[in-house]
Amino acid sequence: AGFVLALGVTACSGGGAGDTSADASVAPEDATVGVSMPTQTSERWIADGAAVESGLKDAGYDVNIQFAGDDIPTQQQQIDSMITQGVDLLIIASIDGTALSSQLDAAKAENIPVIAYDRLINGSANVDFYVTFDNYQVGVQQATALLTGLGIVTPQGEGDATGPFNVELFAGSLDDNNAHFFWAGAIDTLQPYIDEGTLVVRSGQTTIEQAATLRWQQEVAQKRMEDILTANYASDLVQGVLSPFDGASRGVITALQNAGYGTTEKPMPIITGQDAEIASVKLINDGVQNSTIFKDTRKLAEQAIISAEAYLSGEEPVANDTKSYDNGVKVVPAFLLESDIVYKSDIQSLLIDSGYYTAAEVEAGQ
Ligand code: BGC
Repeated sequence: AGFVLALGVTACSGGGAGDTSADASVAPEDATVGVSMPTQTSERWIADGAAVESGLKDAGYDVNIQFAGDDIPTQQQQIDSMITQGVDLLIIASIDGTALSSQLDAAKAENIPVIAYDRLINGSANVDFYVTFDNYQVGVQQATALLTGLGIVTPQGEGDATGPFNVELFAGSLDDNNAHFFWAGAIDTLQPYIDEGTLVVRSGQTTIEQAATLRWQQEVAQKRMEDILTANYASDLVQGVLSPFDGASRGVITALQNAGYGTTEKPMPIITGQDAEIASVKLINDGVQNSTIFKDTRKLAEQAIISAEAYLSGEEPVANDTKSYDNGVKVVPAFLLESDIVYKSDIQSLLIDSGYYTAAEVEAGQ
C-alpha cells in the first residue's frame, strides 16, 4: 500500500485523510520528520538520535527530535504533538511497544508514514516499516559469547571445557519486543547445554519473566544479581552471566564486585552485554566484562534515513525481511542489519578502526 502525501504541503499543514494528491512526494526543504527516541539514560539512544538527526538534516529535511525519559505518557504526548505540528513522517523507537496505537491511528489519519526504529511497535496496523538489527541473531551471539568465554565452544567448534558451570540469566524489559527476540536466540543456543548439565542455573530462574530487567535499568539488574548471590552462592561461585545489555552488565558487575568477585580466588564470571557502550568497552579492555554485541547505530540511522527518503519521494522502502516481525496485527516489512560480537581482541578492528570510538575514548571509558 503506497502512501499519499499531500502535494506541496508545507511542514505544518500535513495531509488530510481525504487528500488524494497525484504527486506523492514532498520536497526535502518542505518536509519535517518527527523523531521519537525512548531515553537519554543510555548512550546508544543518544548516539542513535544524533545520527538520525544529522543524517536527515544533511538530506535537507527539518527534524523535530524528542527523547521521552523512558516515560510512556511522555512519549505518547511528544508524538501527539509532532502529529499536531504536521510532521510528514515519523521515526519512532518506542518505550513500550504496545502503548502507541492511538498515536499511530492519528498518524494514519494524516497520511503520515511511521517507521519503527530498532524496536517494533506492536498491536497496530499503522506501522509501515521497521529498521532494526537481526534481533534473534543478537541473542545467539550473546549466548555464543558466553559459551566461548567458558571454553565450551571455540570459533572452530566444540571446546574442551565440560563444566558444569554455574550461570545466571538476565533478560531485557518485557514491554520491549526486542527483549523477547534476544532471549529466544540466547535460550535456543544455551538450552542443550542446560539440558545436558554443562550449564547449571542455581537460582532456578530460567523464564524470561523471572530474568526480566524492567526498562533495562542498571539498578534493577544489580539488585537482582545481589539477591541471587545472597540466596544461591554463599558457598559456590557463579561463573557466567548472560546479560542482554551493557548497562545491565555494569549493574551485575557492581553486585559481583561488592560480593568480592574480581580476585584470583573469586574470578569475575564471563559476562556478556550489548551495544558496545564506551564504559563497557573499557571494562572489556580491562578484562572485567567478557564481551558485548556491537550494533552500529550509524548504519541503523542511515537505513532509517534511506527508508524515510523513499516514503517522502512517494516510494516504498526496500525490505530484506518480510516474515520475522509479526506485530500481532500484521507482518511488518523490515530491513535487518547485522551485528558483531566484540571480545577484547576485536576492539581495535571493530570499534576503533571503524571510527566508532577513538583509542583514547576506550582508554578513558568515556
Ligand atoms: C535495543 C538494545 C538496547 C536495549 C536497551 C533494545 O531495544 O535493541 O540495543 O540494549 O533496547 O536500551
